[in-house]
Amino acid sequence: MNVDEHAEELASTLGVDKAEVKSDLENLLSYSVPIDEAKQSIRRKHGGDSGASAAPTSKDVADVDTDDGNVTVTVRVLTVGKRSIRYQGEEQTIREGELADATGKISYTAWQDFGFEAGDSVTVGNANVREWDGKPELNLGQSTTVAVETEPVETAHEAGGDTDLVDLRAGDRGRNVEVRVLESEERVISGRDGDTTIRSGVVADESARLPFTDWGARPELREGEAFRFEDAYVREFRGVPQVNLSEFTTVTPLSRDVEVNEDAPRMRIDEAVGSGGMFDVEVVGNLLEVRDGSGLIERCPDCGRVLQNGQCRQHGDVDGEDDMRVKAIIDDGHGTVTAVLDRDLTEELYGAPMADAMEAAREAMDKEVVADEIRNRVVGREFRVRGNLSVDDYGANLEATEFEETGDDPADRAAAVLSEVSA
Ligand SMILES: [Zn+2]
Repeated sequence: MNVDEHAEELASTLGVDKAEVKSDLENLLSYSVPIDEAKQSIRRKHGGDSGASAAPTSKDVADVDTDDGNVTVTVRVLTVGKRSIRYQGEEQTIREGELADATGKISYTAWQDFGFEAGDSVTVGNANVREWDGKPELNLGQSTTVAVETEPVETAHEAGGDTDLVDLRAGDRGRNVEVRVLESEERVISGRDGDTTIRSGVVADESARLPFTDWGARPELREGEAFRFEDAYVREFRGVPQVNLSEFTTVTPLSRDVEVNEDAPRMRIDEAVGSGGMFDVEVVGNLLEVRDGSGLIERCPDCGRVLQNGQCRQHGDVDGEDDMRVKAIIDDGHGTVTAVLDRDLTEELYGAPMADAMEAAREAMDKEVVADEIRNRVVGREFRVRGNLSVDDYGANLEATEFEETGDDPADRAAAVLSEVSA
């Protein structure tokens, strides 16, 4: 049947004007809505029985809203990541990734195999919209249709999933990376199904270093070896993104060596914080303030939490263990972050070991003299901080592995900023 015949049939069963039906039908078809869906939509408009619950609307990706029930989108498939999950007691393979059109991109989860691959142009009909992390995401289930488009869908996003480590974000799926293994260790963890052997460590490329976990514990992932991982996914672990290898990830040894940058990527604070957390990043900024809870502190011997007035939030009245730390607010003119220094770095900053700090506190009969001394040394100066950045509702913390006064000539610094801008 052609459009005219479909319109004729619809008009006669609905008892409405054929020209109007035909115009509606042509409009829907121009948005690549499958013919059956288009006809259902018109039946519903005229009060006929649609046979389906909600009318999917054809939308641009950028216009898909968390309030939408079901939508139809015409998109390019950017990534397809496979993952095995436990759903209602059953092992099930799902596919996850991103779809894009000219207006933007959106994440999806497909609960069955629709057969599409990265790079394909498709119309996804009747996808359910759900909210994930405040953003809309598409659920492709039993009532979803996927039709191949012959014309490639235009999009600014690249299909395929090849990514530099520095660009990986928690929630990414179906990613391909080429990395060198820097650290690798087999571990046994206790989980739902008893003990499981996994392999974890650190991988790196030219752009960054990231922790990884291989749930398949592949023995070939040895230190110093270079690999291409295809279909890896990224999860947040302790506030930073982590590369995850599943049973579906393919691991291919690389004949070429992967250059590894020993330096952490230096970033603007607002951009680093905006990424939601980073493993091994470097920022440079002015130290605005040494926060309360710095200097000499006491920790709970059971859980390591810092005691408040001798009390652990979890374990109550405990015999605290002495420790030192600094929590310092660093500002680079674009954003702020709290740098957290462990005992070693704090002793360096204080200029003396903890025993001396305790002695000074006893003499003054006030622990605060240690924090005050540190304040005098550091507030208003510029520091380079390297470490792991975690971001949560309470703010951004940079667990420092290196903390150094820059001591740069201001003119050098200006020149460095200028070359960064022009790069
Ligand atoms: Zn405790």
